[in-house]
Amino acid sequence: MSPNIKVALFSAQKYDREYFDSATQHLPMQVEYFESSLSHKTVALARGFDVVCVFVNDELQSNVIQQLDEMNVRMIALRCAGFNNVDLEACREHGLPVVRVPEYSPFAVAEHTFGLILTLNRKIHKAFNRVREGNFSLEGLLGFDLNKKTIGVIGCGNIGSRVARIAHGFGMDVLLVDPNPNTELEAFGDFTDLEAALEESDIVSLHCPLNDSTFHLINDESLDRMKIGAMLVNTSRGGLIETHSVIQRLKSGQLGSLAIDVYEEEAGLFFRDRSATVLKDDVFARLLTFPNVLITGHQAFFTHEALKEIAETTVSSILSMSKGEPLEFQVGEKPALSQ
Ligand code: NAD
Repeated sequence: MSPNIKVALFSAQKYDREYFDSATQHLPMQVEYFESSLSHKTVALARGFDVVCVFVNDELQSNVIQQLDEMNVRMIALRCAGFNNVDLEACREHGLPVVRVPEYSPFAVAEHTFGLILTLNRKIHKAFNRVREGNFSLEGLLGFDLNKKTIGVIGCGNIGSRVARIAHGFGMDVLLVDPNPNTELEAFGDFTDLEAALEESDIVSLHCPLNDSTFHLINDESLDRMKIGAMLVNTSRGGLIETHSVIQRLKSGQLGSLAIDVYEEEAGLFFRDRSATVLKDDVFARLLTFPNVLITGHQAFFTHEALKEIAETTVSSILSMSKGEPLEFQVGEKPALSQ
């Protein structure tokens, strides 16, 4: 490896440049920023680089991994926690280590989750526009107290555990669902199974990872278990929700409201200004028509603290790789390191 580690950073935004430039100052590391996402169409851009640094919607299937290996790319650095967009099996076959940033700011996502819950419940987004137009009517802005309502927190890891604590602070009854229960959380809620949490919760908030067993966790069957008029919140990954089923129940009124920061087909949609182009995704367009649906474009992570931590942890993993040191935040099995 050359003394200057060469990093190709895909799906680059202005803020990535700012935080990574700051984190790599004075380091033997050269970062080149590519606005395009990494996929089979753009993988050729990675030629000549030691590391590819990617985000949530880059697509690293086996053909991309194979080409990265052929180009002598030595590591994939995810600047996010989730790794559902990477074929880990292919990475193992090619001995290509994958690192991630497992905990950059769980507070950022947990706080945004409550931002969505409060906004949707108290219609703050509508009130903001009304007041600016001189309309001070309260008609249609009625919400409910969070105090004494029940929230089901599905997935109680870094983020879900913070959501549980915040909910407890609001005086909510908290139902916790996790195959690996963390007993410390019993001070803030009660562990139960998914079925019970769906049946008893006024708000269901998703914080489990997307994998084969959680894909479309929220589907016809699970939605029919939920209380009539309940709120569904997803700040985890879009694939947890079967969107067509949700739309049906929003139309019938069975589902009371929906707040999402993630969407199954968000790749190619989020993280860009598309205000002057025609929206081609009819399912997403339908979601936008509901008065009781609130959508943000995958911004839950987006705080100063999180971006700083993401850049610093990623850079530190890249340095460890270049020195042949163990990779603290490696995903999956540890293949042999190439020096
Ligand atoms: P984590 O690994 O710390 O926690 C996930 C928890 O889910 C674990 O405790 C795990 O045991 C549990 N779990 C696994 N399968 C489950 C199931 N079937 N039912 C219930 N629980 C299950 O992850 P985290 O840091 O808390 O992040 C959670 C998810 O949030 C990530 O996977 C990522 O996809 C998403 N995320 C979104 C944003 C955003 O900006 N919107 C930012 C960061 C992370």
